[in-house]
Amino acid sequence: MAIYDLAVIGLGLIGSAALRHLSLNFPNLCVCGIGPDEPRKRKTHQGVFASHYDQGRITRVLDPSQLWGELARESIARYSDIEAASGLQFHHRVGCLRATDIEERIAEVDICARTYNPPHQRLDAAGCKTVYPFLSFSDDFVAWDEKGEAGYINPRSLIAAQLTVAKANGADIIREIVSSIDHRGDGLTIRTREGGLLQARRALITAGGYSNTLLDRKLALATKGHTILLAEAPPEEIERLRAMPSIISSFEDPSVASLYMLPPVPYPDGKTYIKLGPSGYPEPYFNAVDSDSELLDWFHSDGREDIAEAMKAALHRMVPDLKVLSYHSVPCLITNSAHGNPYIDTLEDGRIYLATAGNGYAAKSSDEIGRIGAMLCATDEWHTGLNREDFRAVYAEGG
Ligand SMILES: Cc1cc2nc3c(=O)[nH]c(=O)nc-3n(C[C@H](O)[C@H](O)[C@H](O)COP(=O)(O)OP(=O)(O)OC[C@H]3O[C@@H](n4cnc5c(N)ncnc54)[C@H](O)[C@@H]3O)c2cc1C
Repeated sequence: MAIYDLAVIGLGLIGSAALRHLSLNFPNLCVCGIGPDEPRKRKTHQGVFASHYDQGRITRVLDPSQLWGELARESIARYSDIEAASGLQFHHRVGCLRATDIEERIAEVDICARTYNPPHQRLDAAGCKTVYPFLSFSDDFVAWDEKGEAGYINPRSLIAAQLTVAKANGADIIREIVSSIDHRGDGLTIRTREGGLLQARRALITAGGYSNTLLDRKLALATKGHTILLAEAPPEEIERLRAMPSIISSFEDPSVASLYMLPPVPYPDGKTYIKLGPSGYPEPYFNAVDSDSELLDWFHSDGREDIAEAMKAALHRMVPDLKVLSYHSVPCLITNSAHGNPYIDTLEDGRIYLATAGNGYAAKSSDEIGRIGAMLCATDEWHTGLNREDFRAVYAEGG
């Protein structure tokens, strides 16, 4: 039976980052990452799913939360090193425009802008129209036009890059699904659905929306089905929207689009899509998907038609006269913690550690979340200036 010092369970955005950091910082430790690759056929797949099966995730520093701003800033600073070490490109510096008319949000983002000061300009509605004549919001709002490293990352390529480097540094990658972690005895005995068996001294759980399936005591971890719309852009629109940044908008007035949107991005089917999803919308825009069977049903579906329709209308309000060749919608999963920050914590001293709950924001920040989790798991120490209490795991009532 293989015996490891450390096992990272779940090789999504956070787990793959954690594995790279372990392999870089602890060359004398024997480390492995366990987790399946993306399903080949989503609609019939019977295993686990993830939140990263896509070509674009927005990246930027400016955020209403300084904690999230800092996690992003630290991660973004390492993108070019990861690209260089892996030989894989995942970062696209197209900028990110954040627009809002919500007073509280304006004050919060201004604080983040003052604290981290990424290259940006603050625009009013008229300024926004001048810079982005093809976009239409409302008559009165504030926008931060973040440049520099802001834009989007390809989450699939980021994971591939992290794993390429981890593997080159000696980490083992096991493409299986963990079915149980046995805590009896000295170390942990880890079994997989595929029949695999291994031992590890410690484990870092980074299984996203499936983390609770591996824990005896359940966390307060809300898993929510999220629908995205993909609008196929014809060549002339790709050309017209060449200067389009990633966009995040939130408005008080429900008739103004509150959403996140990426500029036209090429997808593996050879087509180019503008992707968008609801942001800042209330609960009815998400579905609670709690059990394994609900998760399966959700990922076998095309998401919710009513949300896809709402996003279609929002897209055309925001980009007037847009020509679209086709639309389709896709299901995704968001995993929320009780406090809105990721859980990075020790669950069982010297044995089980956790880094999960992206809250819909963690792709861009996954390298730093993975690093903090990896360092905690390997050293039992908190290797960041951020307050450890803000990341404590919260257990479910009766969990
Ligand atoms: C539609 C959508 C849009 C988003 N947009 C953005 C954005 O623009 N910017 C941004 O920063 N973030 C965005 N996010 C959020 C971001 O994608 C997530 O926060 C991020 O993917 C979370 O990373 P993770 O590693 O925790 O989980 P995941 O990426 O889901 O990875 C978890 C991994 O665990 C594995 N796993 C599960 N169970 C097991 C098991 N039993 N054994 C082994 N492995 C297991 C899975 O296979 C998976 O690979 C978006 C999310 C969605 C759904």
